Amino acid sequence: MDFDDTPAEASFRTEARAWLEAHAPAKGSAEDFSTGFLEGTISPEVFLEKTKAWQRLLVDEGWAGITWPKAYGGRGGRPMESVIWAQEANQFGVAVNTFAVGIGMAGPTILRHGTDEQKARYLRPMLRGDEVWCQLFSEPDAGSDLANITTRAVRDGDEWVVTGQKVWTSGADESDWGILLARTDPDQPKHKGITYFLVDMKSAGFDIRPLKQMTGSEHFSEVFMDEVRIPAENVLGEVNEGWACAITTLSNERGLIAGGNKSSDIGVLIELARKRGRADDPILRQAMADCWIRQQIQRYLGFRMQTALSKGVPPGPETSVMKLFAAEYLRRLGNTSLAMLGPEGALLSHDSDAGQEWQQRFLFAPAIRIAGGSNEVQKNIMGERVLGLPREQQADRTVAFRDLGRTGS
Ligand SMILES: Cc1cc2nc3c(=O)[nH]c(=O)nc-3n(C[C@H](O)[C@H](O)[C@H](O)COP(=O)(O)OP(=O)(O)OC[C@H]3O[C@@H](n4cnc5c(N)ncnc54)[C@H](O)[C@@H]3O)c2cc1C
Repeated sequence: MDFDDTPAEASFRTEARAWLEAHAPAKGSAEDFSTGFLEGTISPEVFLEKTKAWQRLLVDEGWAGITWPKAYGGRGGRPMESVIWAQEANQFGVAVNTFAVGIGMAGPTILRHGTDEQKARYLRPMLRGDEVWCQLFSEPDAGSDLANITTRAVRDGDEWVVTGQKVWTSGADESDWGILLARTDPDQPKHKGITYFLVDMKSAGFDIRPLKQMTGSEHFSEVFMDEVRIPAENVLGEVNEGWACAITTLSNERGLIAGGNKSSDIGVLIELARKRGRADDPILRQAMADCWIRQQIQRYLGFRMQTALSKGVPPGPETSVMKLFAAEYLRRLGNTSLAMLGPEGALLSHDSDAGQEWQQRFLFAPAIRIAGGSNEVQKNIMGERVLGLPREQQADRTVAFRDLGRTGS
């Protein structure tokens, strides 16, 4: 493991920090919108507007899509520079959560599997934040076992006609485009016969119904599709070979979630404990020390991944370790923050002096244990790929999907 920047990385970091100091709002300032994705801080509409304006500035100034080719508006840099940029930007009052599915997941998948025409059409508006994307993968009976999807796409001339239901679609109501998995051949085994589509969310036949979460927000929706028509040129990769594209999307998603909790800094909680005169409470001190140690371990796990990236090696199952660890850290951080706030922790409005940031983080923490592959699924990956344990039994891998009794819509 290498903790130090190379001279080239150090110079990139200095340049990035100087640009951010000149252009980004400071954390805690009136313009800070870094926690705007949490319910009750700023309205979803204002957050969308602020993240879009910030993203446009990044593109115009050459700081967006650090690893993306220049031809599509990116910087043409190395993966390590992308990590350094995220580390530096995270110190400021800015956020890019709106574009997590687009720039973080759909973009890398289109770059890897898309045609030249698809890259030319979708990547630039995606990177500028002009077109927001959502992920139409999960269904009521297909989450951890994603290949169990029953949404059907049937070819009709130059179009595909899609009918089915998705669920937990983050940002569906504010998205312009979606990445969609649908079954195109039920006579093949379940991981085959799936096709990956790029779908215009304004197409006729979509019915988007937001779901209310315990945080109070409506972050995701149920999405019903009734004969939604998709042009044949919007297939990504090959027909019936969508699983390969889905794997690219999912591995990017896991890395994103694993690395995405840096703003939940234990240091801020320690500061709050001092202000509240609770820093001497022995039980709270113990819990805060536990969180601090976990944050350090996470930093070192991050260094492992960075060292691999710096040497040009793509990260492997360590993203599963990081994701699992991040979920547990956030759970403990949420519990500790509410224990510290005491009865005030039960207030979910601006009645609380601390605002509602910690209450919101506490309520959102369980979602991180599920999103992007649940804790149990990450443990399975670690068991098989790190510890070399036998693979899970999957008797349905070679049987035609139709014969599993789930022919779909
Ligand atoms: C905040 C958030 C945002 C999301 N956003 C999106 C989105 O934008 N688009 C989208 O498509 N989906 C999204 N999802 C859905 C997410 O991908 C699924 O919730 C996740 O894959 C788990 O699937 P499931 O909810 O169907 O649970 P299930 O797969 O039904 O799992 C239920 C329980 O069984 C356990 N389990 C399942 N299989 C195994 C196994 N093999 N071994 C051991 N235990 C197992 C799980 O760990 C879990 O505890 C989001 C979820 C969350 C929480």
